[in-house]
Parts: sequence; structure tokens; C-alpha cells
Amino acid sequence: MTKERLRIAVQSKGRLATGSVSLLERAGFEIRNGGRDELLQRVKNLPIDILRVRDDDIASFVAEGVCDFGFVGQNSLAESGLDESDNFASITPLGFARCSLKIAVPEAIDYAGASSLSGKRIATSHPRLLRRFLCAKNVDAAVAEMHGSVEVAPRLQIASAVCDLVSTGATLEANGLRAVETVFDSEAVLIQSASPISEELAGIVDLLKRRIDSVVATTGTKYIMLNAPRDAAPEIQKLLPGAEAPTIMPLSGRDAVAIHAVCQESVFWKTLEDLKAAGASAILVLPIEKMML
Ligand code: AMP
Repeated sequence: MTKERLRIAVQSKGRLATGSVSLLERAGFEIRNGGRDELLQRVKNLPIDILRVRDDDIASFVAEGVCDFGFVGQNSLAESGLDESDNFASITPLGFARCSLKIAVPEAIDYAGASSLSGKRIATSHPRLLRRFLCAKNVDAAVAEMHGSVEVAPRLQIASAVCDLVSTGATLEANGLRAVETVFDSEAVLIQSASPISEELAGIVDLLKRRIDSVVATTGTKYIMLNAPRDAAPEIQKLLPGAEAPTIMPLSGRDAVAIHAVCQESVFWKTLEDLKAAGASAILVLPIEKMML
């Protein structure tokens, strides 16, 4: 039976859930708001269903073609062990849910490099990635698999070190642990199934990918407008973060120009102060709501 609606797997609850739903909404998909525990949510304005599942199930659902797309952490994708080039048609970084899988030890412990982990027991919910790291470092340590609350393992004497996801570092600090090794850097990605899709849905696939690319491209992107003396323009252009081809227009009756640019990187207050010091005035920074590349 051919599928009439595209299916996207999204985490039901957790760090990826809010960012994934918000990205879909910013891309113009009107998700029908069912109950909190609803497994299947419909997109009202397009033939798309959202399947709300556990993060660890998403990679295999998409690889098997149960879902056509999935929002997943790179850590879960790598931990699934599914060969990325064989099982997925595309993998697109989304720029949110950035974190690192790190090995951490109690603060009071002396640590002199990965060899200090030899003979130790390390608690983790990422056994595959941890074993790969230990193997690459030639360290013989035991791996204790846990499915949550990894950070309490040293206090409960389940293990003497942990290998867990770290975002701000607050959880490690609250548990008297310090990070000593980075095993894997991760962010949310959109994975696309390599299973064939019907001709009717191929257009929806293109639309989805195009819109998500546009939302990702505009995230953090700003439009800067400023005025500057003509001879200060080259210096000012160098200060514009991630601006490839600014527009420079003469201001009538003055030896000055207006510069307009799309900045792909963060525009901080420090950037504005540097621009002002270089001669810029009337500096405006505007958010970009939509952009079609
Ligand atoms: P933090 O205290 O901000 O370093 O966050 C650490 C806690 O949040 C740990 O329990 C992690 O398992 C979890 N965590 C942090 N970032 C992520 C992420 N991107 N995806 C899933 N869990 C995460």
C-alpha cells in the first residue's frame, strides 16, 4: 500500500522535542495540538504526520522506512550503530541541542590522561561510543550501561567515572564531577530515509527539505544597516561577522556610504562597539524572519 502522508519522527519529550517542534512550526507546518502523550500528530496544512517517539528509536524507525524523516541527536544516531551512508538518504545538521559526550571523574581524583581510566568502571548510556573511544586510546576499562541518571553512579559506587552528555556542565558540577575527556560532539540532525517514496509525496519531501534549510540558514542570522565615511568602508566590511557580499550605496551630498549586509554569525554588542569605533553610525540590527536561498 502506498503511503499518502509523509511521516516524521520527533522525540516525545526531552531536550530535542521542543527545538524540533519549534523548527517545524517556523517552517510553516501547522501541527495539530493533541494531548501531551499523543503518539501521532497531524500537520493541518500538508499531508504530514508527526510520530512522537523515544530518541533512541528514531534512527532505526527512519532506517527501516517506518518514518521518512526523523529529528535525532547525532549522539543517538552514532550510538545506534546504523551505517549512515547505507541507511539514510541525507543527514542535515540543524544547529541546536549542541552537547558533548564527556568522560567525567570525581573532582578530588587525580587524572593524568586516558590511561588513568585503565581498570576503572565507567557508567554510561552510550556504551558503543564509549567502547570505541576506549579502544582508540588503548584503555582497558569496564563499561557499566545505565539508561538514565548516569551522573549519580560514582556516589552510589556503581562506577568510578561516568561518560555522559554535557551541555552547560551544571549537572556534572552539582554531582562533584569534572569532565576530563571529550568522546563525541553532537547536535540535532534531520535524517532522511533511503527507502523509496511515492511520486505524490516526492514534492512534499522537496518542500520540507527546502523550508528546513531556510529556517536553519536564518537561525541567528541578522541584517545590519549602517552609515559610514566612504574611506572607512573597507575596515567596516572586515568587522561584519559572516557577511559575504555587503551592499554599499553612496549617500547623496555626503562623502559617506550606507552599508547593508546579511550577517551569518552572531552580532554581539562588542561587534557594534567595534563598528562604531571604526566610524560607523546609525547602526541597525534586524532579525531575518524568512530567507529562500
Ligand atoms: P547540563 O547540566 O546542561 O550539562 O546537561 C546535562 C544533562 O542533560 C545530562 O543529564 C544529559 O544527559 C542531558 N543532556 C544535555 N544535553 C543533551 C542533549 N542535547 N540531548 C539529550 N540530553 C542532553
